[in-house]
Amino acid sequence: MTTHDPLHDPILSGDRRALARAITLVESTRPDHRERAAALLDGLRDTGREALRIGLSGTPGVGKSTFVEAFGLMLTGQGKRVAVLAVDPSSARTGGSILGDKSRMEHLSRDANAFIRPSPAASHLGGVARRSREAVALCEAAGFDIVLIETVGVGQSETMVAQISDLFVLLLAPAGGDELQGVKRGIMEIADLILVNKADGDLKATATRTVADYAGALRLLRKRPNDPEGFPRAMAVSALESSGLADAWEQMQTLATWRRDNGHWATCRAEQAAHWFREEVRAGLLARLDTPEVRADMTRLARDVAEGRRAARAAARDLLDDLGN
Ligand code: GDP
Repeated sequence: MTTHDPLHDPILSGDRRALARAITLVESTRPDHRERAAALLDGLRDTGREALRIGLSGTPGVGKSTFVEAFGLMLTGQGKRVAVLAVDPSSARTGGSILGDKSRMEHLSRDANAFIRPSPAASHLGGVARRSREAVALCEAAGFDIVLIETVGVGQSETMVAQISDLFVLLLAPAGGDELQGVKRGIMEIADLILVNKADGDLKATATRTVADYAGALRLLRKRPNDPEGFPRAMAVSALESSGLADAWEQMQTLATWRRDNGHWATCRAEQAAHWFREEVRAGLLARLDTPEVRADMTRLARDVAEGRRAARAAARDLLDDLGN
């Protein structure tokens, strides 16, 4: 009989402190922690629990924290359990977390049905991806109904977040037509729902126009096979006034249900799992190159190649053959 990690059962019973500790474990780079985390995750692989994973992106100031607070409270108000994970690949550079800051989600962070985890100061996007993916799996095992994965719009991180989400929501600010160009095509292509926030007060009319602009832009994109009629869709919300949030949630559910009913959900998750497996293999191979011995060999062989004593391919093969032993 295999013995489970001490965190296994508390996580299954939805204990938020155990969940927080488990996430700390998956964030650790210590080899013994990594090993324990891998075993813990493997043991929790088959719980039969499935959360709706929603990726949420937007530039700083667009209203992500305000939205997550209002949207999260709406969901917990409906009896749902909501986890919020922040993914911020820039925090390594800025030295601090600007996402998922609990003080910016004051009410939600005190809600017994919510769990908020700020982004750690991880070193590189690869590490951030693994930590985020494993944290999502832990939240799912802990029985959360919805996992919101929040990221700042800096390009690369959206694609990564989309690879761990079932739905991807892009939060935008009301703006003139010119700024529409500022949203990268790639991000438009992965968005399932564009929410133009701050549709209140003086900004309401601009927000309505912005929605129309984006709805037009979305229609120009190629129709995706895993979308029902009318998606991807743009709509206006006000996180501050909590307006449009119920409608946005309804759209997310419509899309999720459609994808489930049409087999896209399972296919998408299977493809994501395969993608992350390949990434793990790649990361594992690269890690094998990252030892003092191999680095010394690389330096020596690179010099041999540079000075014409060896051909590049033969030298590379020698090095790789040695790695296998
Ligand atoms: P984040 O950086 O994307 O997390 O944005 P915040 O949630 O911190 O919001 C940035 C600013 O926009 C704050 O001053 C918010 O009060 C304001 N804000 C957020 N949502 C709304 C909204 O729906 N309407 C208006 N008028 N202001 C908002």
